[in-house]
Amino acid sequence: MLNFLSKVGDYAKETLQAAKYIGQGLSVTFDHMSRRPITVQYPYEKLIPSERFRGRIHFEFDKCISCEVCVRVCPINLPVVDWEFNKETKKKNLKHYSIDFGVCIFCANCVEYCPTNCLSVTEEYELAAYDRHELNFDNVAMGRLPYKVTDDPMVSPMRELAYLPKGVVDPHVVPHTAPRAGKHPEDILQELEKQAERQTPEASSKN
Ligand code: SF4
Ligand code: SF4
Repeated sequence: MLNFLSKVGDYAKETLQAAKYIGQGLSVTFDHMSRRPITVQYPYEKLIPSERFRGRIHFEFDKCISCEVCVRVCPINLPVVDWEFNKETKKKNLKHYSIDFGVCIFCANCVEYCPTNCLSVTEEYELAAYDRHELNFDNVAMGRLPYKVTDDPMVSPMRELAYLPKGVVDPHVVPHTAPRAGKHPEDILQELEKQAERQTPEASSKN
């Protein structure tokens, strides 16, 4: 009899615990039912990449001086700079340039250190391919400028979630032309200049 009662007790305890867990799960579900959906209907809608997004690298063939700085600063020596020395002009002539984006880690070191600024990062992130060898971009492929999300007539651009104004949870209602939360680097520079101007007369009056 005692054995039977203890089994019934265990069963009741487990039932209560299961009910508690189901309640916890449903409370999350009901909580989400009162929120607005923030799903991005890709590829018809796309988020606008953030200002410092490091996407596929763009290359300007005519600006490259074949110095190979990009190769030396790359953590995996990835860029391939194919050049030949011109004895008459005593300069290097660039023949081909390529970066394998299947291997690149998009650190943008090469972009930072290139002395002629012929490399730049773009906001292109759609690099999916069936064969990873297709990701080995030559100078022609790297010279192509990507379509901006905001210029693509086939796409509704949406403000990145991190840039939504305070209290807004739905990126669909914020036009892409609306100012972003936070300050642009040029605004910060302007403020710093004004601050410096204000401090200079104060410092000279003390002297
Ligand atoms: S982004 Fe980084 S990993 Fe890619 S090529 Fe440039 S330096 Fe190398
Ligand atoms: S650092 Fe710039 S200029 Fe020099 S080889 Fe690389 S891409 Fe060309």
